[in-house]
Amino acid sequence: MHKPAHHLFRPDEANSPASPGRSAAFIRLAAAAAALLGFMLTSPAAQADSYTAKVFAASLNVRSEPAGSAEIKGSVKSGALVAVTDEQHGWLKIRTGNLTGWVAGYYLKKTGGSAPPSQTAVAAATRLAARSPSTATVTADSLRIRSGPGTDYDVVGSLQARAAVTILSRRSGWLNIRTAGGAVGWVAEPYVSAGTPAVSVAAAGRTSGGAAAGRPASDGLRGKRIVVDPGHGGDDPGMIGTTYGTLEKDLNLQTALYLRDDLKAAGASVTMTRTRDDERPALFSRAGLAESVSADAFISIHFNSSPKKVSGTLTFFYSQSDDMKLARAIENRLGDGIGLKSNGVSFGNYQILRENETPATLVELGFLTNPGDESIIRKASYQRKAAQAIANGIADYFSQ
Ligand SMILES: [Zn+2]
Repeated sequence: MHKPAHHLFRPDEANSPASPGRSAAFIRLAAAAAALLGFMLTSPAAQADSYTAKVFAASLNVRSEPAGSAEIKGSVKSGALVAVTDEQHGWLKIRTGNLTGWVAGYYLKKTGGSAPPSQTAVAAATRLAARSPSTATVTADSLRIRSGPGTDYDVVGSLQARAAVTILSRRSGWLNIRTAGGAVGWVAEPYVSAGTPAVSVAAAGRTSGGAAAGRPASDGLRGKRIVVDPGHGGDDPGMIGTTYGTLEKDLNLQTALYLRDDLKAAGASVTMTRTRDDERPALFSRAGLAESVSADAFISIHFNSSPKKVSGTLTFFYSQSDDMKLARAIENRLGDGIGLKSNGVSFGNYQILRENETPATLVELGFLTNPGDESIIRKASYQRKAAQAIANGIADYFSQ
């Protein structure tokens, strides 16, 4: 996905946000679940001691023995469901289809209780439904209603910003909705916000005065586990600066490493979704990592772009109940004199936040399309200040 939706500062047009790979991935997942269900019904291994787990790595090697040096027999993909039949010092013996072997347990997460596999396979799809009420609000300026769940379907109407709709069902990034006027059709999910209208609370809770460095961090980070996610990586550079050609993926990683140091210095333990330039973990595994390490908070670091002449930082949340407090705490520090102004907090319907069980936020630390911003954000001094402000914000969040 070379064009992540979060880089649009405000979505003016909302026609093709659904990633083409999503429905295919979903079908594969459903097929895997169906296969697994068949296996569970026929195999004695499915009883008592075994359980179903989900893979949280882009690709996970299956080895002949519980050791990193053992022969690789095959691999399993992110989101795959496997039967776990044994465990040895951090390695899990798994079975999926005809493949059996050992995988690093760190990348597997047990799926919920005694739910049948067919149900766990659609967990990612139904999680949203469980978290949000059946009413929703349009966040795009204008949103097309189509006759089916995809851009191939005919446009049958449109909705204006803040229009209320009733959600009837969901399918691969599309929502079947009913409008206030009674019309029924499909809209792209990223441009609809669950429940109340998208909030913009830029100045809410802002304390006045004092530079970021002037206010000491609270002690809230001690013993906490934070997942830090430098956005993009590998063959996905993210945005590219229009004046200096700065690669977003590099800024993300540099800033994230400063953040890691600050968090560790304050007593937190930190898990990075990537630490190298050539790594590009799937969005799904980045969000899943927070759950698999039982993180207390998840922070994704990005830099923004916009066709409009805009400047400054923006802090996104998805869930008003879980994420917004964290986003506000971080924004409060980012807006406290780090060198760029803060544009506040905003609802953002991003996979990495939406499919994240941990309180999560995505920060955009300046605009690569703004020459002034780009010259500032390239500097290590800015990245250090931004990282310290984020660390202080997370500390404040845990102290509340
Ligand atoms: Zn980005």
